[in-house]
Amino acid sequence: MNIKNKTVIITGASSGIGEATALKLSKEGANVVLAARREDRLRKLKSKIEKEGGNALVVTGDVTNKNDWQHLQKEARDTFGSIDVLINNAGLMPLSYVKNLHTDEWDTMVDVNIKGVLNGVSAVLPTMMEQKEGHIINISSVAAYKYFPGGAIYCATKSAVKMFSEGLRQELAPTYGINVTSIEPGAVDTELTETITDKELMKDMQDVMGDVEPLAPNDIADAIFYALSQPGRTNVNDVYIMPTTQK
Ligand code: NDP
Repeated sequence: MNIKNKTVIITGASSGIGEATALKLSKEGANVVLAARREDRLRKLKSKIEKEGGNALVVTGDVTNKNDWQHLQKEARDTFGSIDVLINNAGLMPLSYVKNLHTDEWDTMVDVNIKGVLNGVSAVLPTMMEQKEGHIINISSVAAYKYFPGGAIYCATKSAVKMFSEGLRQELAPTYGINVTSIEPGAVDTELTETITDKELMKDMQDVMGDVEPLAPNDIADAIFYALSQPGRTNVNDVYIMPTTQK
């Protein structure tokens, strides 16, 4: 796909990987739809993109809310006339040991990391099927392949995203021309760990990460751009990308 003038919805665009991806894709000529809950962050990003000559639309909402998704997809279509790419990036990682029973955090992870992705797909699919073209990118994680301390629930959500992506690809790509990619990053330098509240786990995390030099959000934005810019005959199924120093 040539991304120029295509409409790209990016969830979790208010920070980290989503923000870097919005900047990268707008520089490449895409019309980006910036979605998240923190409006102030999205507005700042929109200004930055517009100063650099790009087009951006801000739509606030919660990925767990189906009405918010309907509003988001309608705003994207009404403003830019199509929905060509959905990047399901919003997610959170309040790691904790199962025995410490942070059950509210389990629920939130399932709601945002899994149901948020399903909600996004169901909101944009009618448009993409009508267009007979599109690309859905789901941000999974190295956690889809490897357990790490405190990650029993987080890893389960990211495995679900990876397997859902494969099922979606098999159903959509050959018949409807809608490509599907799962991105599986290792450690990336973002705000993701800020939702961790399990004190016992926090202490152990230092030992796990050791001296790993994390990837920059831009590294993932570049991987997303690579997946998007392949010729029509090519579906990049997975991008599994790790810091060199991470085991
Ligand atoms: P950040 O914490 O910087 O970004 C997370 C984004 O998700 C924020 O923009 C936040 O926006 C949004 N978000 C969270 N909950 C909701 C919600 N209910 N509705 C809408 N938006 C929501 O972390 P990253 O950039 O690292 O995370 C992006 C994705 O990358 C996640 O899916 C994460 O699991 C995945 N990932 C990250 C890795 C890392 O090491 N950083 C490694 C592998 C995967 P707001 O609060 O404004 O709504």
